[in-house]
Amino acid sequence: MKREYFPQDLKDLIMPSPSGKYFYRCLKCKSEFDIGQLLYVCPECKNVLLIYDKEWERLKKIPGNKWREIFDYRSMLNILALKGIYRFHELLGSVLPLDAIIYLGEGHTPIVESNSRLRDWVGRRFYFKNDGQNPSASFKDRGMASAFSYLNYLMKKNNWKQVLAVCASTGDTSASAALYASYFSNGIKSAVLLPKGKVTPQQLGQPLGSGAIVIELPGVFDHCMKVVEYLSDHYPVALMNSKNSWRILGQESYSYEIAQQFDYDTEDLVVVVPIGNAGNITAVLNGFIKLYELEIIKTLPTIVGVQSEHANPVFLYYLEPNPQKRVFRPVTVKPSVAQAAMIGNPVSMPRVIELVEKYRELFGNSEGFMVVEVTEQEIMDSMIIANRNGHIACTQGGECLAGFKKLVDAGKIGKEKIGVLDATAHALKFSVFQDKYFNDSFEPEYGIRPKKNLKNSPVTLSLPSTIAQPQQGKELSPDELKLFVAEAAKKIAEILELEG
Ligand SMILES: *Cc1c(COP(=O)(O)O)cnc(C)c1O
Ligand SMILES: [Zn+2]
Repeated sequence: MKREYFPQDLKDLIMPSPSGKYFYRCLKCKSEFDIGQLLYVCPECKNVLLIYDKEWERLKKIPGNKWREIFDYRSMLNILALKGIYRFHELLGSVLPLDAIIYLGEGHTPIVESNSRLRDWVGRRFYFKNDGQNPSASFKDRGMASAFSYLNYLMKKNNWKQVLAVCASTGDTSASAALYASYFSNGIKSAVLLPKGKVTPQQLGQPLGSGAIVIELPGVFDHCMKVVEYLSDHYPVALMNSKNSWRILGQESYSYEIAQQFDYDTEDLVVVVPIGNAGNITAVLNGFIKLYELEIIKTLPTIVGVQSEHANPVFLYYLEPNPQKRVFRPVTVKPSVAQAAMIGNPVSMPRVIELVEKYRELFGNSEGFMVVEVTEQEIMDSMIIANRNGHIACTQGGECLAGFKKLVDAGKIGKEKIGVLDATAHALKFSVFQDKYFNDSFEPEYGIRPKKNLKNSPVTLSLPSTIAQPQQGKELSPDELKLFVAEAAKKIAEILELEG
């Protein structure tokens, strides 16, 4: 819809213009730094940063119901820069002019409700939010749209001619970074570091297809992360991992969309997110806090983080109820089907610690944020069950379902609650794990035994040798074809137990 047709009082608010005063703040020593430079850690104490807005309070002058109108009406505008995460411009990147924004179709992913069979299995109503329906098939695109839009802005402003964007990845970060970098014709190139053998063939194919330089390292993600951190400390590169706070800002759009998709009534929602490097959970927490502060939502939803037993440092940390006594200890990961979350030392842990404290305080009690641990078996069974009921969940989506069900079974989720589960990537990216399940070929470290009733495999039709069968380069005669078709159909009808 054209702007001129909008209600009079919204015409001026519907098109955002650059505003606010953003800065990086160190979560440890609280030092503040200008966003004019690319910073990933505090130059003084090396801790992670978050971006804040010095003029945040100005947004409170607009009442919550007006914000809701702005975001809802804005969804009708056909302006590409505002079609994706920047529908929420004021909340996640208000300093950016619209002409710096890169839009590749990210965000506004559908929520799909569970059917009655799946709902009964879990014991609660719930939805999957399909973030696998982003352009590179994972939620990482939300953060990349933000980080690359900001990089684009800096390049223009500073007249930089060439930038190398680098990241370490469990697969999806590199797929996304490579995709966004490939869109630029202004001198942005990308290189991605992957743990060799620890990403799926689909995830390896993605950055290769986007033309990135792909470097495989021995070890797991945590090792790649150390190397890329060293690179960004010593060489002029733009780090695209979630250490880059612009990634976090973009990923907050996930929370804003959930609020909007439920008409801003978030009271009964339980938002379930897998935790790997903990960038996503950081963004989800911060997103809902911002909505609450601006009174765009009246009640905070419950937030649940899920981890596999094979990569569970955040779960272990929150086992201790007394905040004073909690100690964070990195863990050594074991192979996990939730491979994108197979991280033993999450970079965003200091952010999580700070935001969870704030979230629980605003929520009124510690139930507002919970972490649950699930087994590899539960993750695989849940993913396969979800996908046999109309969903397209990846293993991390299966992890969310397993975690939600576990909390329901434990009596931690009230009857009135509604789950919103993050299917963080598309099922197709992780089809190798489905194959292992169906072929019963999991390596022993996973400890996964396929359930018979959940297995599936193709049936090869075998016809009697007296019947001529199609072969490469040799046509069947019309009579042979007739016979073949009739015989094959008969066999299939037998298999399907059809009556003629
Ligand atoms: C990156 C990723 C995760 C983990 O998110 P973090 O921000 O690292 O916690 C989960 N699922 C998928 C599919 C991912 O790509
Ligand atoms: Zn510091």
